[in-house]
Amino acid sequence: MIRKMLIANRGEIAVRLVRACSEMGVISVVIYTDADRNSLYVKKADESYHVGPDSGQPYLNIHRIVNLAAAAGCDAIHPGYGFLSENAEFARAVEKRRMRFIGPSADIIESMGDKVHARQLMKEAGVPLVPGSDGNVSDLQEAEKIAKQIGFPIMIKATNGGGGRGIRRVDKACDLASQYERVISEATKAFGAPDVFIEKCIVNPKHIEVQILADKYNNVVHLFERDCSIQRRHQKLLEIAPSPQLTEEQRKKVCGYAVLAAKACNYENAGTVEFLLDSSGEFYFMEMNTRIQVEHPVTEAITGIDIVQAQISISGGKPLAFKQEDIKYRGIAMEFRVNAEDPHHDFLPSFGKITRYYSPGGPGVRTDSGIYTGFDIPPYYDSMLAKLTVWALDWKTLIARSRRALREMGVFGVKTTIGYHLEILDTEDFIQANFDTGFVDAHPELIHFPRRAHPEQLAAVISAALFAHLSHG
Ligand code: ADP
Ligand code: ADP
Ligand code: MG
Repeated sequence: MIRKMLIANRGEIAVRLVRACSEMGVISVVIYTDADRNSLYVKKADESYHVGPDSGQPYLNIHRIVNLAAAAGCDAIHPGYGFLSENAEFARAVEKRRMRFIGPSADIIESMGDKVHARQLMKEAGVPLVPGSDGNVSDLQEAEKIAKQIGFPIMIKATNGGGGRGIRRVDKACDLASQYERVISEATKAFGAPDVFIEKCIVNPKHIEVQILADKYNNVVHLFERDCSIQRRHQKLLEIAPSPQLTEEQRKKVCGYAVLAAKACNYENAGTVEFLLDSSGEFYFMEMNTRIQVEHPVTEAITGIDIVQAQISISGGKPLAFKQEDIKYRGIAMEFRVNAEDPHHDFLPSFGKITRYYSPGGPGVRTDSGIYTGFDIPPYYDSMLAKLTVWALDWKTLIARSRRALREMGVFGVKTTIGYHLEILDTEDFIQANFDTGFVDAHPELIHFPRRAHPEQLAAVISAALFAHLSHG
């Protein structure tokens, strides 16, 4: 059993983790920087510790976090997503201090974090892979040779990549050299290693991923799939569970592959196996994420299983409380990532003070957010402010309810992606549940939505205009 848990994260996921602790009777401990002093998760946690200025990157400081957790009497650390969540060195440091790292073992993180190694393991287990290089590509000559074998277009990918970075598509042989160099440089900068590999580019695939839970006693279950095909620059904008684009037969197939994948690496805790689905209906393993994912709430909405609580129970040594045949899904759910970004200006981050915030409610609506009226969004971190998760019995009702909830949501003071999401919901391909990862590029017109202002801001604009008019007259 876990008694006291340190959360090595911030923002909405820290709030989510505090909530799980609170329901389970686990004492929650959080850390915060100068800019996060007034963050919502700090207010909600049982204990909080200041870890200095943001410039020192304290959320990435392994030794400091582990020492602090030990000194505070914690018996576990939850890494959330991003930051140290897929850092094997961190997991090892936590284990060494006799605390539980809430996630798989350092060895599993290491072996699945290396995409080339993960591909090798999956190949041996009989999980279908995107065709590509057997290992890392050692030089341009080898890259040319492999590209010729598999045929253009190809993808060059950072072996240790994540967060949609370090991935480039190459359509023609003449672009190979420059793109190869660019990915190497991105990989080195972002992931600390120049390792890259090549995959065949599946043209306009659907991104289908499967949520897995595995305990310490070799029980592995899946919680069905999510459709994350709506992406911009390889980053997810919204996610749906289950996919409205799969047949029951395809669902069974991909979930079976995911369980096979989890068993092949002796997986433990919550994880996600990502696949691409091509236009001929074939699934290909892409990667495994060994952590809680941003979009886990859609799976919780359709299965009723609290994935974070399951993670904590598993780490505490409990066997899974359910068998595969006990897990059913009901209805369909969609999550919208509400980012502080300006879609009218190439999704440029838009940080600043939240002058007004209204969280939507009503039937089938859940919000996970790290903001409140008056909160100043620090510019140093992720631009995701909130996640809106909507559930309904069927797709048509889900779209109508999502429109209603997005319109009800009010985030003022910064630019957000809310208006863009509303445009997606009005697009015919989307309504017909017929979309792939090319959707955003195929619909450049979606960014032309009107801006929304708070009545107070409108009133200010109108009175200024009126004043100008009167003073001229
Ligand atoms: P999910 O698969 O949960 O949707 P994302 O790919 O959106 O995850 O990543 C969630 C967060 O974690 C983002 O802030 C992203 O930038 C960050 N992230 C994910 N993987 C990595 C990584 N390998 N290195 C650095 N940041 C990462
Ligand atoms: P990350 O670790 O950054 O999440 P992934 O390997 O999961 O990287 O790829 C992120 C996204 O990039 C996928 O969801 C997909 O849209 C696109 N992608 C990756 N590999 C391929 C491929 N071989 N063919 C087509 N699209 C791909
Ligand atoms: Mg991925």
